[in-house]
Amino acid sequence: MAKKMANLNYYFGIKMRLFPSSAQRQIIDNNINASRFAYNEMVAIDKELYSLHQVKVPIAIVQDRIAYLQRRKNNTQMLFAIHPWLAGTDIRTDVVDQARRAYQNAWRMFRQVHRSGVPVFHRKRDNGSYQLPTRYTKTEVGLANGSNRFLDKRHLILSGLGKIRVSGSQKRLFSHADSIRVGTITIRCDATGRYFLSMMLGSDTPFVHTAKPAQAAVGIDLNIDNFLTDSNGNVIPNPHYYRVIKGQLAKQQRILARRRLRAKKEHRSLRTARNYQKQRIMVANIQCKVANRRKNFLHLVSTALIKNHDMVVAEELRSQNMLRNHALAMSIADVGWRTFLGMLAYKAELYDCQFVTVNPRNTTQTCSDCGFVMAGDQKLTLTDREWTCPQCGAFHIRDHNAAKNILAKGLALN
Ligand SMILES: [Zn+2]
Repeated sequence: MAKKMANLNYYFGIKMRLFPSSAQRQIIDNNINASRFAYNEMVAIDKELYSLHQVKVPIAIVQDRIAYLQRRKNNTQMLFAIHPWLAGTDIRTDVVDQARRAYQNAWRMFRQVHRSGVPVFHRKRDNGSYQLPTRYTKTEVGLANGSNRFLDKRHLILSGLGKIRVSGSQKRLFSHADSIRVGTITIRCDATGRYFLSMMLGSDTPFVHTAKPAQAAVGIDLNIDNFLTDSNGNVIPNPHYYRVIKGQLAKQQRILARRRLRAKKEHRSLRTARNYQKQRIMVANIQCKVANRRKNFLHLVSTALIKNHDMVVAEELRSQNMLRNHALAMSIADVGWRTFLGMLAYKAELYDCQFVTVNPRNTTQTCSDCGFVMAGDQKLTLTDREWTCPQCGAFHIRDHNAAKNILAKGLALN
């Protein structure tokens, strides 16, 4: 038997754009609807079971109903029998099974983290997704063998859909295609009507091999004036993708609000209001553009850092405090430090690099040459960009000095 996903050593996720034909698009949309329907069916059954269990007297009719619902809950075939439209040839029982699993996971998540809330009805929206398991019948795994598999770098075979064109697959995967197992895949339609596929991959060998300079460690200081400064004195300026496009976005959002209001006034449903829908897609496109630019930037910077060093040290984010300052909150959300640190963490694993975060306490106020700590009214404020140490006389650029201290704290952990 081929090894299960859970028993493999390394995981890797890829996201690809899908280019379905119009027939395939129809099938995908049907499956998204069926997946949501099955999920909501589970929510409804559990709600009814809950209220039936409140009836403490053993009444036969109630007991029968409970038994029936419990059977229905655990039986995909029964769901298909009750709702004949679900049995359309293009809807997979796999999709429904997977939706049921998602529902059970939502409960499991609620039991672990109460904040996540109990599973609720999924409303019909402009976007949606469904999941498909990947099955291997033979003993071997590999990108070219499962029920969902690669034909070549640009084409996949997906169960229920057949051959479909993709973009964004990664060349390096194909160099050891035979040892990679494809896990559950998610097919998603976004608010602008584009289709994407996320694929979980597992392997017993690492996905990436790199040779890098020995013993290169770097500390990074994330700050407001620039995106980051490293301990070698390199400065990466803040990207301005958002500021530029913000005015444009606000304007289009105002138009959208106006059209929503007009449709409401004329008692038309938003779903069929054509001008509103056109505008909605326009706004979604702008938001998508901002998000993509930001992500590209963060990927570029994080990959460069991880690939070129064997240790990267950053501060723990103290945004809880910083977010109290409104102007700062805006730029923090804007630059995406949290996402950035997340990227560093997972890429470090991928590229066999050590990534650690340290307590930011005094990293700015300490002289990296002699260790003197500025205190009292000597303390540096946000506007002090450069300073001279009163004890040893060393001249410091504030962020560069902080990055050196961050590196030292990280090295001290080893
Ligand atoms: Zn000093």
